[in-house]
Amino acid sequence: MSWIDHLDEFECQRCGNCCKGVGDVLLNREDIRRIAAHLEMTQVDFLHEFTRRTQSRRALIDQRGPKRWCVFYGGDGVGCRINAVKPKQCADYPHRWHNEDTAGTCEGVKALIRRFGEVPDEAEEIPAARGT
Ligand code: SF4
Ligand code: SF4
Repeated sequence: MSWIDHLDEFECQRCGNCCKGVGDVLLNREDIRRIAAHLEMTQVDFLHEFTRRTQSRRALIDQRGPKRWCVFYGGDGVGCRINAVKPKQCADYPHRWHNEDTAGTCEGVKALIRRFGEVPDEAEEIPAARGT
């Protein structure tokens, strides 16, 4: 069993770690339509102001400066400035996708690991129990 088996009990801790650092927030067509409408911008203006090209799809740009936060991340206490219409990729995290960093960076997943532990399989669990 691992934290992945307990994702139905996941609670976001609003740490913002999934909005900081390096990475691509990729957009689908519905994301672009929805966010542009929310910002009362044309889709062309939204794409020009807030996105960049990647090899596959458009992605949100980062804020300028060393922090590399997502352009829509407002910092602690503010969070995502477009939370009501955030991209599907953001809404799906960490339930529908996660990466090798998730267990060490997502405070909600860390809380699951504290509650349920990270026990890879029985073979590793038995020797540890016997050694105590
Ligand atoms: S769009 Fe919002 S939820 Fe997604 S990375 Fe940016 S700030 Fe975070
Ligand atoms: S890293 Fe996890 S706990 Fe933190 S804001 Fe993102 S989803 Fe929520």
